Amino acid sequence: MTSKQCIFCKIVKGEIKSKLIAESDRLIVLNDINPVAKVHILIVPKKHIESVSTVSAGDGEDLVEMFKEAADIASKQKLSAYRLSFNAGNYQHVPHLHMHLLAGSKIQWSKL
Ligand code: AMP
Ligand code: ZN
Repeated sequence: MTSKQCIFCKIVKGEIKSKLIAESDRLIVLNDINPVAKVHILIVPKKHIESVSTVSAGDGEDLVEMFKEAADIASKQKLSAYRLSFNAGNYQHVPHLHMHLLAGSKIQWSKL
């Protein structure tokens, strides 16, 4: 998939309207449209990086910002416990890197 067809790139460019929780030069943050926990937030770099398996050295600052943003959200929303996750391969449905921030309910490790 090219970045032109990518749903998260379209949201970044404003081609698909979406309510953002936060935006910076490098990131957008939004609620997952199909939440699997009480709090299910997506932290998405504006840059089209396909997945964790294609991350390269030049993506370092984007990744650091993603983790800082997660910590910031956890602090602002007073989350006492949270999980950050990335899907890859067949588990990944949107081929644009994104971090899931999950919290607010008991999250079971599902059987893979
Ligand atoms: P993954 O399986 O890791 O690729 O997760 C993709 C996530 O993106 C899923 O949890 C979807 O519910 C979510 N998603 C897909 N389209 C949208 C959208 N337009 N706005 C918010 N979340 C979305
Ligand atoms: Zn993209």
